[in-house]
Amino acid sequence: MVTIQDYLNSGVIDVVPLLSLALNKSHAQLIAYHDYQLNNEEKTQLNQLIKQRQTGTPFAYLSGKKGFYHLDFKVTPNTLIPRPETELLIDIALDLFDKNQIYEVLDLGTGSGIIAVTIGDKNPQWCLTATDFSIDTLNIAQQNAKTNIKFQLGNWFEATPNQTFDLIISNPPYIKQDDLHLNDLSFEPQSALVSGKNGLDDIRTIIDNAPQHLNKKGYLLLEHGFDQQQEITQLLSHNFFKIQKFKDYNHRNRAILAQIK
Ligand code: GLN
Repeated sequence: MVTIQDYLNSGVIDVVPLLSLALNKSHAQLIAYHDYQLNNEEKTQLNQLIKQRQTGTPFAYLSGKKGFYHLDFKVTPNTLIPRPETELLIDIALDLFDKNQIYEVLDLGTGSGIIAVTIGDKNPQWCLTATDFSIDTLNIAQQNAKTNIKFQLGNWFEATPNQTFDLIISNPPYIKQDDLHLNDLSFEPQSALVSGKNGLDDIRTIIDNAPQHLNKKGYLLLEHGFDQQQEITQLLSHNFFKIQKFKDYNHRNRAILAQIK
């Protein structure tokens, strides 16, 4: 006989959320029913989840969802798992324009859709477009949408020919290809993480092409690596001004906002 309490005592990584997931019970219910004896089917399912978690599968890929800002998002191994630091981009974007006026906003490389979906839900007046180069990923984003968002397939601005926006936002891949941190991220799509030798290949592409896709006084807002702010400022200085830099909640340089000259 194995009870919930036996599992709670086991010291297994993420045992509480894994029990919640396998038994479909809240944390409070697990405590209340701690004497409950798992049947064979429940044990098999839970042990399988524990094994996957212990061999490195992120919990979000086991539960199939992850919270971001005020919403829950469906995620699959085709999508990057939403990171709390990306919430910074939402705060910056929501502060930028009047909530009740109409603005064209683009989320480039949307992944699970977190940026476009969150902003669209907060400010339904704004017109959101979201792109991704992967059709599987774009399908997930579409399933996560709460409001009317235009989803367009393509690599960076190839997805938005002849379109212009008031604000372009992106959390592109920005990790250096030989960064050791990547060893911890092997379950996530590498195309959403890695961007060439110094992590700046995609950021450079976006900065170079954004001017053709920005309306007068339009803004570009990017998430980036903690050590990339200086190089990105340099890349932006050609076509952009009023550059503002932001730190994430761990006090690391994480985002940059610039207006087209
Ligand atoms: N912030 C993520 C990480 O370091 C990377 C996300 C990205 O490359 N856009 O885990």
